[in-house]
Parts: sequence; structure tokens; C-alpha cells
Amino acid sequence: MSAHKIIIAIDGFSSCGKSTLAKQLAAKLGYNYIDSGAMYRAITLYFLRNGIHVNDHEQILDALSNIHLSFVFNEQRQQSDIYLNEEDVEPYIRDLIVAEKVSEVAAIKEVRSFAVAQQKKMGKKKGIVMDGRDIGTVVFPEAELKVFMTADPDIRVLRRYDELVANNPNITIEEVRHNLELRDYIDSNREESPLRKADDAITLDNSNLTREEQLEKVLEWVKDRATNVVAK
Ligand code: C5P
Repeated sequence: MSAHKIIIAIDGFSSCGKSTLAKQLAAKLGYNYIDSGAMYRAITLYFLRNGIHVNDHEQILDALSNIHLSFVFNEQRQQSDIYLNEEDVEPYIRDLIVAEKVSEVAAIKEVRSFAVAQQKKMGKKKGIVMDGRDIGTVVFPEAELKVFMTADPDIRVLRRYDELVANNPNITIEEVRHNLELRDYIDSNREESPLRKADDAITLDNSNLTREEQLEKVLEWVKDRATNVVAK
């Protein structure tokens, strides 16, 4: 594989396996993996804890000025945890209570500018895989490789249910389905940088692919892009 580092942007609907692919790629290539959704989730956690109203402009700006986000590598998990101010909030941000609110918070213009500015900085040195909803369209429109992931909705619901049920034994498949549909709807229809496939993104439907097959496929694309960059 070429040593030339590129930016890999992965976008798509909720629970398509974006983070699984992004982590696989980062491990294989020695790149940094950044979960942009974790940033919106951490901001949402702050809003919930501090009773910030999504319609109160002043309150939102004030809240954002008190939020500092950072990623710190966790040796045990072999990936970065997100810190909200000085606290590792990784254990809380996947809860349904956060999932139910996050798309509403992520649709706020000021929240997006706040997160996007930090995400752009993280790509300065390249060698990064970032997943989210607007990475190929807004955060890194110049990314050398853009992947837009999709998967059958029923498969997505089951995948997310399996992930959540370990920590939330009372959760139902219907709750998970409702949350995914709602988030996809809000994410695709919001005014500020809605979820859409970048014109130059490659679609990857992984409904019937194993993790190994999907990694192999995308590594071919990486090889192609990284070589082309060197040739330029
Ligand atoms: O990726 P994840 O499902 O953890 O993201 C949680 C939510 O954060 C999404 O449903 C979406 O509302 C928001 N998000 C976003 N833009 C991103 C990443 C996530 O709006 N780049």
C-alpha cells in the first residue's frame, strides 16, 4: 500500500456499519479514526444535563462556549473515547435518551458550525478516516475517497438492537426501529447540511457483505486513490 496518506470520508444512514468499516480501515492503514457522531452525541448529553432548549439561541451559544470536546485513545478498547470537558462520556452517549435527541441537536446551525470547525482541523495532516452524515459533502469535500454506505433497513435495525440490548435489556426492536427511522428522517430533511451522497462518493451496500469482504473492497478503492494522489 502506498505510504501517501489520504482522507477517507464515510457517510450514510444510521446503523449501516459506518463505524465498523472506519475502524477496520484505520487499523489496517495506521490512520486516525474519528467518530463525528460521538461529537454530536456528547453535545446532546451536555444539552440534556443542563436543560438547554433547542430553540433558545442565546442558551445554545452560551452552552457551546462551555463545551470542550476531545478524543483520547483508550488502550483497552483500542480506539478513542470522547471527552466532554474533562469527563470521558463514552459510556453515556450511546443511550437511547441521547439517541432520541441527537438529531434535533445536530440540526442546529450553531452546533454544526462548532463541530465542523473542529473536524476540519483534525484532517489537516490527512491519514484520517471520519464517519458521519456530511463528511464527504461539507467537512472534507476534498477527501480523496468518499464512501456512501447503505444497508437494508431491517438488517440495520437488528444490528443496532444487538448492539444496544447488552446494556439495555428492556429495549424493544420497535423502539430501535422508531429511533432509526426518526433520525434518518431528520438527518435527511434538515436545512443545514442534510445527509446526502456526495456526487463523487462510491455507494457501498453492505447488507450481504461480511466485514472481511467489505474491508477488502474498500481497501482496493484506497489503493487506487492513494496511488492516484501520488501520481498527480
Ligand atoms: O453516527 P451516529 O449515529 O452516532 O450519529 C448520531 C447523530 O449525530 C446522527 O443521527 C446525526 O443526527 C448526527 N450526526 C450529524 N452529522 C455527522 C455525524 C452525526 O448530523 N457528521
